[in-house]
Amino acid sequence: MQLLDGKALSLEIEAKVKEEVMILTSSRGVTPGLAVILVGSDPASQAYVNMKAKACKRAGIYSITHEMPESTTESQLLNAISILNNDPNIDGILVQLPLPKHINTAKVLEAIAPHKDVDGFHPQNVGRLTSNLGGFAPATPMGVMRLLQKYGIDPQGKNAVIVGASNIVGKPMASLLLNANATTTLCHIYTKDLASHTQNADILCVGVGKPNLITESMVKKGVVVIDIGINRLEDGSLVGDVDFASVAPKCSYITPVPGGVGPMTIASLLENTLKAAKTRQETPQS
Ligand code: NAD
Repeated sequence: MQLLDGKALSLEIEAKVKEEVMILTSSRGVTPGLAVILVGSDPASQAYVNMKAKACKRAGIYSITHEMPESTTESQLLNAISILNNDPNIDGILVQLPLPKHINTAKVLEAIAPHKDVDGFHPQNVGRLTSNLGGFAPATPMGVMRLLQKYGIDPQGKNAVIVGASNIVGKPMASLLLNANATTTLCHIYTKDLASHTQNADILCVGVGKPNLITESMVKKGVVVIDIGINRLEDGSLVGDVDFASVAPKCSYITPVPGGVGPMTIASLLENTLKAAKTRQETPQS
């Protein structure tokens, strides 16, 4: 069994992004800019936003965080997005999810200009991903694909099983694996006999949010396991959705939690912001 070291790969990617940012800045005077909007004061969301801001700083990406109160109305949020859509110094706009219940998330995501949608949640980018036409892919599944690539794991012809079918994790993960020619199965809360699917997986990606959902008897020997789940236990420790102790010995490769997919998500966000900035150079905004 070999660990898929997301921490190490994320540092490699970050260094490469930093180098490219320096070249872009010195040769063309463009500094990539990311705007993160945080509505409310959820501690987990605040922690994620801080991590993203720090990573931008390390990579030389200009970043601003718009902190808006929980009472922010939908129209105030849409107005903030509209201003950022027209800000020539901002290449990427990210609205930290989840949003307060009184705000329509789909409407907000659709308001972000598709060429600044570095989270890849705008329907236009979702459609491009599904049709394998490029655009922005969501950071978490994109980070998973980078990890597979780094370790020479080619999804082509493999049985890829994804557990969890959210718009931000499972569905785009399925699209990326399908685009890479895997035979792809997407499981969710209503899937009957989950084990019958997971036992068939050559590559198993789990993003649900339930500790120990996947146990030793649910996987076959030699499987590649990607644990996307992040769960904080009562003792404060972080675990994924896979019972690591019992499952890892059966795997050819497995991601640790923490240190697997989490850091890759941030690295992919930096890559997407750099990509957006390069597009800015080609089609300057007014
Ligand atoms: P979500 O609640 O939106 O979706 C959960 C999905 O799991 C749903 O499709 C649901 O049908 C499915 N599900 C629930 N119970 C199930 C069960 N018993 N069997 C099979 N499927 C089941 O969650 P999300 O936003 O997609 O996040 C999922 C997990 O991934 C969370 O732990 C989250 O913290 C984590 N996450 C990690 C990263 C990262 O960077 N590593 C990024 C985003 C989310």
